[in-house]
Amino acid sequence: MGDAADMILEGLLDEETGELIDGEAPGYPRSPARDARRRLRRRKPAGTTPCPLCSKRFRGDAGLAAHYQAKHPTEPCPVAVRP
Ligand SMILES: [Zn+2]
Repeated sequence: MGDAADMILEGLLDEETGELIDGEAPGYPRSPARDARRRLRRRKPAGTTPCPLCSKRFRGDAGLAAHYQAKHPTEPCPVAVRP
């Protein structure tokens, strides 16, 4: 195998971009560029409503209200739910 391919397998070069990665070679292929993209995708969407009691997040008031009913039934729900 070529030198670049060996360096990618050792983790010296980014397996996607081929760029040199700082630090020691871990001995397996890696890609900080791809990892950064994945972290960005996994980040929670902005504008979600957090539960004030347990920090779980919801896209809308209905989700939060249902969560309150299921997980915190003794607490007064902070959002008004239409019947
Ligand atoms: Zn909660």
